[in-house]
Amino acid sequence: MRKLSRVTLVANAAVVAVGLVALTLLPSAEGGDSGRGSGDGRVPAKAAPAAPSHSALPPVTATVESARAVGANELGLVPVIMYHRLLKKRIASIDRTPSQFRAELEKLAKAGYVPVTAAEFVTGKIDIPAGAHPVVLTFDDGHPSHFALDANGLPRNDTAVGIILDVAAKYPSFRPVATFWVNQSPFGLSDRKRQEAAVKWLVDHGFEVANHTYSHLDLRRLSPKGVAEQIARQERLLKKLGAPPSVTMALPYGSSPRNAKTGREGKWDGTSYRFEGVFLAGAEPSVPPYAKSFDRSAIWRIQSNGKQGECRRWCSAYWLAWLDKHPKERYTSDGDPEHISIPKRLRGNIISKAAKKVIAY
Ligand SMILES: [Zn+2]
Repeated sequence: MRKLSRVTLVANAAVVAVGLVALTLLPSAEGGDSGRGSGDGRVPAKAAPAAPSHSALPPVTATVESARAVGANELGLVPVIMYHRLLKKRIASIDRTPSQFRAELEKLAKAGYVPVTAAEFVTGKIDIPAGAHPVVLTFDDGHPSHFALDANGLPRNDTAVGIILDVAAKYPSFRPVATFWVNQSPFGLSDRKRQEAAVKWLVDHGFEVANHTYSHLDLRRLSPKGVAEQIARQERLLKKLGAPPSVTMALPYGSSPRNAKTGREGKWDGTSYRFEGVFLAGAEPSVPPYAKSFDRSAIWRIQSNGKQGECRRWCSAYWLAWLDKHPKERYTSDGDPEHISIPKRLRGNIISKAAKKVIAY
């Protein structure tokens, strides 16, 4: 895998370029609420279940035998899938239709994937059943198609959150959580009260709402002070809306600041930030945070897409099939969040200060 890195850097650049093209086609977000009002007469969303907490699973203590029995590999690859808009009629190549999104979630559920948030992933809080594989569902730019509340204060079922809840109801092992990286108009909302209500619902139900910078500028083109301002302004907004301090951040266009460290921590006008993980825009699965090759300033993601054009081998259809065909390369949980279980051959790949006990079999 790692020997592909130079090739994939090129691919990342390609994905970024695709993203730039797509974003130039975006209608202005300033109008707010642009997704509202389309498709009336929908059935109201079902009441959402309470957030699945980490204590929801009965405690399990992994052993060499139990780890071997499920083929546990907690240094294996994890797909962090990147979504943009969900549109019935796609405009840009990175758009997905609601039915494509639902089909991908069902495919993940059937293949034994269980979602964790980006924050849980980067902090190693991957508490999923033995034999299951983590997946991180991430949404950039806070589009109205990601999340909206109906008149009763429930998630609209034609949004990404509505679809995630629906798939989780059908596949009870599929934990309904995701990460939303938003800018100054979260979910296309311009009204402060409605922004607060949206963030509150998501945070209360175990979803992550975090920093994608205030104005979505290319951080590489900014001074260190400009980078810190973009991030700190968004932290202030998120705090006003009731979100906890961001644990993760996604780089607009996947473009790192010239000094990557300024993207991870900094301070502007009295507001400071420090992220446990900063995410790129492409183009391969990520190693987990206990791996020596894990770079917290540049975490890989996979664009959700089919296999056409640039996506012939860099997007989700390609990678999910690849992981199915290479089960030994994939992260498989031991079911015990206190231990890291790995095949003996991977012992040298683990960071020395992993705060967990290692089971090598
Ligand atoms: Zn973006």
